[in-house]
Amino acid sequence: MDNRIYNFSAGPATMPVEVLKEAQEDMLSYKGSGMNVMEMSHRSKTYDNIIKTAEQDVRKLLNIGDDYAVLFLQGGATLQFSMVPLNLMQGKADYIVTGSWSKKAVKEAKRVGEVNIAGTTAEENFSRLPKQEELKLDSEASYVHYTSNNTIFGTQYHTEPEVGNVPLICDASSDILHKPLNITKYGMIYAGAQKNLGPSGCVLAIMKKDLLERSSDDLHTYLNYKIHADGDSLYNTPPTYAIYLMGLVFKHLLNLGGLEKMYEINKAKAAILYDYVDSSDGYYKGTVTNKDDRSLMNVTFTSPNADLDKKLIAEAGEKGFSGLKGHRSVGGLRASIYNAFPTKGVEDLVQFMDEFKKNN
Ligand code: PMP
Repeated sequence: MDNRIYNFSAGPATMPVEVLKEAQEDMLSYKGSGMNVMEMSHRSKTYDNIIKTAEQDVRKLLNIGDDYAVLFLQGGATLQFSMVPLNLMQGKADYIVTGSWSKKAVKEAKRVGEVNIAGTTAEENFSRLPKQEELKLDSEASYVHYTSNNTIFGTQYHTEPEVGNVPLICDASSDILHKPLNITKYGMIYAGAQKNLGPSGCVLAIMKKDLLERSSDDLHTYLNYKIHADGDSLYNTPPTYAIYLMGLVFKHLLNLGGLEKMYEINKAKAAILYDYVDSSDGYYKGTVTNKDDRSLMNVTFTSPNADLDKKLIAEAGEKGFSGLKGHRSVGGLRASIYNAFPTKGVEDLVQFMDEFKKNN
């Protein structure tokens, strides 16, 4: 494993090494089957066991009750920006807009019905989250949609917005499974896999079963949640290999001690970087204006100027710290430190940043 580098990519992102090793062991013959999982019929008994076990394990991790369906879908989180309103919007819906991804969700929802922007910090370049008292929620809305972690802007909800009896729908693409959740607070949670769950190509959706009744028979079959739920995510060929790897990630998290443990690790890991940034006498600055809104997954910060940002990224790259360039809409640097990113990598980054500060 000596040739692995510290991969701070925002996604697809670093995977747990234990999972990669297990996949390597299974590469030529999955548990005596004589074939790789990707070569196997999705209707076979062996595969049925893989997808069912993955579902059971994620149900265990998040304590998901029987009144919720667990779906494995395709089309990335991006297709959910369309499927959510197509299936669930009945006239109008509320959207909290906290960054580029929620803006994209709004764009698709507007094709289906009336969108009320219930809150946004667009005018502050999304450098914080709207406060509860700033939200203008409509009690008649079909649902409230929000993004729990803003991958680009480095903000994260640490408690869900309060939305009364209206179903809460969450794009949790970049922070799902980083901590335990009270699933009963949600109508639906969806997440593209390629940050905390596994490889790209699969979306995990957790949905209150009574919402499935909203899906109209007039919808295109593949876009209908009810079809996917009735078919146990096997209406057509699912992304079989991605689901297998997600299953390995779920097992890995269970073996680690579950999401309470993962959350402890994530909090301690992010604190190493934030504490260093905050104690750097203003050399490094966090880009999020309200510290309570800082993300545990994507740490966004700047050095004294754009030239030094560039220099730091280049020198870091040579030392094996990859993927630190901030998104162009924020600039600066971004260290994406999802579940699988090792704490040692953050400690080493801080040491590197401190040397860089002394030399520049
Ligand atoms: N939502 C969030 C919060 C994201 O970070 C991303 C991707 N980075 C997306 C949605 C889009 O996901 P996908 O590329 O899987 O469609």
